[in-house]
Amino acid sequence: MKVLKFGGTSVGNAGRIRNLAQIIPTNEPIVVVLSAMSGTTNSLIEIADEATKGKTEKAIELLKNLEEKYYITSSELFHTGMYIKRGEEFIRDMFYNASKKITKEFSVKNYNEVVALGELLSTGLFQLYLTEMGKNSAFIPALSFMRVDVKHEPDFFYINENLQRLLGAYIETKIFITQGFICINALGEVDNLGRGGSDYTAAIIGNVLNAEEVQIWTDIDGIHNNDPRFVDETTPLRELSFEEAAELAYFGAKILHPATIYPCSNKGIPVILKNTLEPNDAGTIISKAYNPSGVKAVAAKDDITAIKIRSSRMLMAHGFLKKVFEVFDEFNTAVDMITTSEVAVSLTIDSKKNLTQILSKLKEFSTVEVDENQTIICIVGDFVAEKTGYASAIFNTLKDIPVRMISYGGSSHNISILVSSDHKINALRAINRVVNQQTLISK
Ligand code: ADP
Ligand code: ASP
Ligand code: MG
Repeated sequence: MKVLKFGGTSVGNAGRIRNLAQIIPTNEPIVVVLSAMSGTTNSLIEIADEATKGKTEKAIELLKNLEEKYYITSSELFHTGMYIKRGEEFIRDMFYNASKKITKEFSVKNYNEVVALGELLSTGLFQLYLTEMGKNSAFIPALSFMRVDVKHEPDFFYINENLQRLLGAYIETKIFITQGFICINALGEVDNLGRGGSDYTAAIIGNVLNAEEVQIWTDIDGIHNNDPRFVDETTPLRELSFEEAAELAYFGAKILHPATIYPCSNKGIPVILKNTLEPNDAGTIISKAYNPSGVKAVAAKDDITAIKIRSSRMLMAHGFLKKVFEVFDEFNTAVDMITTSEVAVSLTIDSKKNLTQILSKLKEFSTVEVDENQTIICIVGDFVAEKTGYASAIFNTLKDIPVRMISYGGSSHNISILVSSDHKINALRAINRVVNQQTLISK
């Protein structure tokens, strides 16, 4: 079994959806995971935000506008009058159900139900299109198997039991279609895996099915050695190890949801990134294989808050760090970077959800300084201690950029640097010069 995930742009219009039907293999069992058409989830979030503010009429109006766009897609997608009509009926039903959720008592549950509409639409339309093309496929609703527990972690036992049961109901079928991103939570309510979460859906499915490989199809020819949205002359990497890819995804490479790698790496399942616009391109293969070759790639993670915590006593007394980390633990807040000195510890967090409570607890035994709007620049490569020159090349290239924190040595394949977000683009461009100067970068 292979799992193939197609992102928003890969299903972004009628032409792209038709193209998918050409890309997917029909001679071997596959699970096709689809995102919402690009832009849809953003629109749904806007609609749900309006409804949350009590602006019900505005929310309904925006929902109507989105519905109109889907009728156009439907009329372009299907070939025959009968299927255009079936498409329209499907769209009408889905939007009608969503509009019923938009009331003055709009709850978090309703919010998530509205946001889930995008993946329900794309998968429904795609399956209808395959049917029109005479291709047999089965629909496996994500909400019938993809569940997260109270900690919002995938409930692998439940997912496995239910997915196997659903797939087992079909004997001849080779193409199974499901929604990315959406899930049910521990309360049994509709929820989701976070923005960009369809990658994670594909990885979780790959894990429970012990898939041969997980393919992530997107709008670019694999993972590049720098963020192509901010830096020109980036190059696709042909091979990355699980650890390298996990670092890049966690530290901001938008191409992969941060949690995608682990479900595959812990079962040794290769993750292959492919371009829907150039299906014959090799893309990037992420696997156990590790090919050390200097500075490989750079990614940036925004919206970071740096906190400097100074012990109230002059020196860092025994037990101080324990007390500090207990505070972050109490508020379920992950710490990304840490540096220490004799009297203070600086660390970063990427969630401001519990910042106020965290700060007031820390202030009970320390003085605290906070810097918001920071960016972590993560440099992935081979930084084993015996090799010299990489760190100095990186720091040298950043000589005109004020660096707030440096984390080096935590792992042999990551150097992280914290800068104010205003300096992010310059830092990425500067480091790109080091990346490009090397001859050993995998191509
Ligand atoms: P999808 O909708 O298919 O999930 P995303 O927009 O989530 O696609 O991810 C693909 C985009 O990620 C690319 O178009 C590119 O702009 C961006 N991106 C950021 N960092 C990288 C990187 N290191 N390599 C490739 N793409 C990257
Ligand atoms: N549609 C969702 C989003 O836009 C999930 C995804 O695209 O992976 O975040
Ligand atoms: Mg994505």
